[in-house]
Amino acid sequence: MTRRETLKRGGRGLILLAVMIFSAGSAWAGEAPLPLPRVAILAMGGTIAGQGASATATTQYTAGVLDVGALVASVPGLEKVARISAEQVANIDSAHITNEHLLKLARRVNALTAAGAVDGIVVTHGTDTLEETAYFLNLVVEADAPVVLTGSMRPATAISADGPLNLYNAVVLAASPQARGQGVLVAMNERIDASRDVTKTHTTNVDTFRSPEFGCLGYVIDGKVHLLRAQTKRHTVRSEFRLGKLEKLPRVEVLYGHGNDSGDLVDAAVRAGAQGIVHAGVGDGGAFPATYAALKEARAKGVVVVRASRVGSGPVAPNEDDRKDGMVTSDTLNPQKARILLMLALTRTTDLAEIRRIFTEY
Ligand code: ASP
Repeated sequence: MTRRETLKRGGRGLILLAVMIFSAGSAWAGEAPLPLPRVAILAMGGTIAGQGASATATTQYTAGVLDVGALVASVPGLEKVARISAEQVANIDSAHITNEHLLKLARRVNALTAAGAVDGIVVTHGTDTLEETAYFLNLVVEADAPVVLTGSMRPATAISADGPLNLYNAVVLAASPQARGQGVLVAMNERIDASRDVTKTHTTNVDTFRSPEFGCLGYVIDGKVHLLRAQTKRHTVRSEFRLGKLEKLPRVEVLYGHGNDSGDLVDAAVRAGAQGIVHAGVGDGGAFPATYAALKEARAKGVVVVRASRVGSGPVAPNEDDRKDGMVTSDTLNPQKARILLMLALTRTTDLAEIRRIFTEY
């Protein structure tokens, strides 16, 4: 569908909670100007909305203070890129994100796209768990409209705050026809990354979001999108995961492996009611013997166990023991993303063959 057709179909029913900025795009002489794309900004909080006591406070600040109107107002020139609507979905440090936040945000994205109310969506989000929210949306968004997550490493009050340029670039990307059908994307520090592959790699530096092994999909530079590659794994309209009336996600815990480990935390997770455990194992998903024994016992009780790796890049591939002991492997998903996929997988099935298929396809 062309943007003109999409525009004709849409345009109704969008509730604007904060800001609307209208402007017209340029056109050839004699042709009516094409209206700018409609981009909704959904704000979740994080450092991009953070406030510190001074301009030099780059790590000492409170995340999730400024509202979405202030974020939009801090970016010059946005009104030349898109017609912006803005909504506050939450205003929290992303370490506090719950499964309920994920469901609420995904439902809002799906409602906006289903109503034909937007051409693209930007989610502003704390960077600490941004990759998890982005990957969750990648799996449950039901439209091929661009959905782009962004945030910042420096609070809005800091010298050289990175939020305004990140937000500008995210809106440029969400407004771009090139981003349509590419799955949920992350726009940080001029790069475009696939939500499936990207991860936060530095605790404080603005150059923190990377897709180890795979590299970024492209760049936004000088307000222009340069998309070089595409992700091939299933996402959004090609995903089998649909939220429907789902109110709760199954409990899945991530346990971090190390030398001299024990099975105690595995047993505790099972006792607490975990339906799934992701083990962030050593190397290509290895576990200390006592831990592995506990994982096998957990599996015998019906818990789905995914072997992932704490290494940070590279695959965890299935081996003979996995088949014998009923383990699933994470492919190239990091442990926190394996948790997201396992939660969604468990909403559909507990069949091991099916869950293994899901871990190869997403
Ligand atoms: N603690 C912050 C958060 O994730 C960090 C950030 O946004 O950069 O909300």
